[in-house]
Amino acid sequence: MTTAILGGGLSGLTLARLLNEQGDDVVILEAEQEYGGLCRSHQEQGFTFDTGGSHIIFSPDADVLAFMRRMIEGNEQRTVRNTKIFYKGGLVKYPFENGLADLQPEDRFFCINEFIRTLVAVQKGDLAPPSNFHEWIYYTFGKGIAECYMVPYNEKIWKYKTEKMSLHWVEGRIPRPPVEDVIKAAIGIPTDGYTHQALFSYPLKGGIESLVRAIAAPLHQRIRTGFYVRSVRKTGKLWLIGDGKETVIADRCICTIPVQHLLSSLENIPAPVQQACDALVCNSLVCVTIGVRGTVPPLSWLYIPEPSLGRANRISFPSNYSPLTAPKGCGSILAEITHQPHDEVSRMTDQDLIDQVTNTLEAMAIISKDRIIFAQVIRQPFAYVVYDLDYQKNMRVVNDYCRSIGIPLVGRFAQFEYLNMDGCIRSAMDFIKTSS
Ligand SMILES: Cc1cc2nc3c(=O)[nH]c(=O)nc-3n(C[C@H](O)[C@H](O)[C@H](O)COP(=O)(O)OP(=O)(O)OC[C@H]3O[C@@H](n4cnc5c(N)ncnc54)[C@H](O)[C@@H]3O)c2cc1C
Repeated sequence: MTTAILGGGLSGLTLARLLNEQGDDVVILEAEQEYGGLCRSHQEQGFTFDTGGSHIIFSPDADVLAFMRRMIEGNEQRTVRNTKIFYKGGLVKYPFENGLADLQPEDRFFCINEFIRTLVAVQKGDLAPPSNFHEWIYYTFGKGIAECYMVPYNEKIWKYKTEKMSLHWVEGRIPRPPVEDVIKAAIGIPTDGYTHQALFSYPLKGGIESLVRAIAAPLHQRIRTGFYVRSVRKTGKLWLIGDGKETVIADRCICTIPVQHLLSSLENIPAPVQQACDALVCNSLVCVTIGVRGTVPPLSWLYIPEPSLGRANRISFPSNYSPLTAPKGCGSILAEITHQPHDEVSRMTDQDLIDQVTNTLEAMAIISKDRIIFAQVIRQPFAYVVYDLDYQKNMRVVNDYCRSIGIPLVGRFAQFEYLNMDGCIRSAMDFIKTSS
């Protein structure tokens, strides 16, 4: 039995490894010349940067975390998270609700007062349950935390009005500390939130790509790079998968490439299915990687909700994840800018993007431009799934269709879910369990 896996990112490679371990014959079809997808890393002048945005290894899923840590055994650096939000010129501890003590008194009062008023209103039944993400933010955190941080930050990263986003995904994905912790935070008793991420791992050498390389180690003969899947058809019991030059024949076909790419490879798709797929929303990403002489602030990463500080929504400091990601005496910075696929950011030149980011970094007093050794731009067309209000309805149609033709969907853009690496590995593990 030969299984063709479309896509050689983390999901495709994990699936292939698990199938290979149980004795199945697999072939991974990957469009790029290198496998790894969003989990690739790039070396430049002694610096290592993750090309799909800054990655760290963490998970509340013990089995998956153990799997990831086993893969990088002997090459693991563990770090205590030191993450902040840049707010009104100062640094506020992340998550914001755990950092209220860092706010000026007026903002602190606004946040805690509205938080408690909202709690009371919810308990008295005076507030209708939320029906979209925007309402959920106000209902959960109150107007203060909503307006100081949650709404501006979320609209900056999602590039979507929070009123137009669904709320089905927030549980477990958005930190939601106990009430006592928020009150403690406001009066200055330290509390930590999102604790399963408070200590994270990162490969000492090689960036996040070391993780996918370790997963792929037993599979090298099975990976076909430079194979852009353009056609997928079934003849009798066999799948014929082509890239326009060659056809691979398999007994089973599993998709980990974006579902949009899968559908454009299929024939005779019913119009409602195509319409549902076309209506799915995702964000692209620009990464600006910067190598600097001297040190960077001792932070893991920094969220930037304020629109006035430019387009970057997050700035990470990879040289603080592992000292081996930068030459001695140097530091590294990775700025992330999310954007919609064909918007003005996609038309900006690399130099304009670099100038914008370096201006922001100077305005925030993080670096002075004369310390920059090099800066580069890396673009990712598929970065984030956006859960708009029609998402669940549309994905139901797409899922039902893919199920009906016998192509399982596994991974971030195949399932079209906001999955981190742990979620992708969990999906692959669950697929193996249910299919064997
Ligand atoms: C900014 C950012 C930061 C992140 N940070 C973290 C983090 O800190 N921790 C964490 O756990 N997760 C993080 N993630 C999530 C993580 O990157 C993803 O969950 C994971 O990489 C998804 O893997 P995948 O294989 O499902 O998809 P992808 O990585 O997108 O892989 C899909 C593969 O399919 C290939 N492909 C596409 N079309 C075709 C085609 N037609 N034919 C053949 N091949 C094709 C692509 O080239 C790619 O290699 C982050 C993501 C982003 C965007």
